[in-house]
Amino acid sequence: MIVTRFAPSPNGSLHLGHAYSAIVGHDLAAAAGGRFLLRIEDIDGPRSLAPLAAEFRADLAWLGVRFEEVTPQSSRLARYAAAAGHLRGEGLLYPCTCTRAEIAAAAQRWGPEGPVYPGTCRTRSHNPARPAAWRLDVSAALARTGPLIWEDALRGAQAADPAALGDVVLVRKDAPASYHLAATLDDAADEVTLVTRGRDLFAATHVHRLLQALLGLPVPRWHHHALLMAADSGKLAKRRGSPSLAERRARGEDGPALADAIRKGSFPAGITLASS
Ligand code: GLU
Ligand code: ZN
Repeated sequence: MIVTRFAPSPNGSLHLGHAYSAIVGHDLAAAAGGRFLLRIEDIDGPRSLAPLAAEFRADLAWLGVRFEEVTPQSSRLARYAAAAGHLRGEGLLYPCTCTRAEIAAAAQRWGPEGPVYPGTCRTRSHNPARPAAWRLDVSAALARTGPLIWEDALRGAQAADPAALGDVVLVRKDAPASYHLAATLDDAADEVTLVTRGRDLFAATHVHRLLQALLGLPVPRWHHHALLMAADSGKLAKRRGSPSLAERRARGEDGPALADAIRKGSFPAGITLASS
């Protein structure tokens, strides 16, 4: 049984890029008689959950994309804390009290997600008076697991290279998990077999594969689809003048017709699928 998912964060309305992502996930599952899940990634707090989650459900229904909704992150905080506690017990996490500005100033290289944390706090004694995030000691973790491989449906076998992102945060200063820890645990709990998401998260998968090995989680396959871009090759976002799905819905656009056009690769003017 193939199980895919769409996992939007309720911090803004969905746009065409999200519609594309949901349709890719839905269609891959549907073609194989599988299940397509909607999971609300509200680790930032349930503050915006109710209205935006309702909007997301209505957007998908409007497009004609059928889904099963699974537990949102805000209901799984204890599970994240337990996994973090396990990794801490294994000596694989260390507290980091650096601020964003300190990290930007200390970084020696730029990774796929911005300045790469240079490990400043790995050997520094911890001042418990300062709020701390907990970071994964990636080289210690890799020494534990040995080399890892993962499979992308479009790009084939990948040698996991979690070091590219540096020692990522697993427990945030303000939340019991980071995106990396929460999404990895959730995909396992939801029994996702094919993680469908945009290519912007390709590098994150190296870290997720490492977490699966450390936590003894099942290893799914991944399908990182190309991203929709504005014609000026900027990232597709509302500020570029692309109306949200909710706005399109409110002004009476035909949802299933839009979904079909997206399936055929015929996007609204000014929007293209990135080639790399
Ligand atoms: N919640 C993430 C987002 O809004 C997606 C995470 C994922 O698909 O793994 O972009
Ligand atoms: Zn630090």
